[in-house]
Amino acid sequence: MANPVDRYRSTHLQIRKILTPYTARLCPKCAEPCCRKPTKVREFDVLIANACGCSLPSANESVTEMVNAGMQSIAGGSCEKDEMEPCDYLGEKGCLFPDDLRPFECTRWMCSFLRREMKPGDMRQIRDLLHKLGVLHRTILDATDPRRSGR
Ligand code: SF4
Ligand code: SF4
Repeated sequence: MANPVDRYRSTHLQIRKILTPYTARLCPKCAEPCCRKPTKVREFDVLIANACGCSLPSANESVTEMVNAGMQSIAGGSCEKDEMEPCDYLGEKGCLFPDDLRPFECTRWMCSFLRREMKPGDMRQIRDLLHKLGVLHRTILDATDPRRSGR
């Protein structure tokens, strides 16, 4: 049986295959594009992509921005969508992460536009695949972080 990283990558690809026809149609004309700061990128996403041959910069800044946005929200502040800067990992041709190693939380997040458009059969498949992706994500995290597995 393939190892968890290979299965994680192939599950990403299966998800992307279902989503691409929808995102290709919806994203270019989206009124509220989601690849903006604070992003959902975690250091794990960068580390696993780099271990598989990418050379992406650290996500520490993304995490700091996310914490700052959370603190601002707790304090009652907000930021208008069109004031938010694009994600640092958004290139001219889209996300700089490879399709099979997109950040876990970016992949998991289904926007309201997608949810509204998606055929029920596709939605069912996506739910099953996201569940599988979550299990594999935890397995890899546990294997790479001794604190999580109690070793
Ligand atoms: S919010 Fe949805 S439709 Fe808009 S850019 Fe993001 S994924 Fe595409
Ligand atoms: S990492 Fe990629 S998918 Fe996630 S917000 Fe940035 S550009 Fe979008």
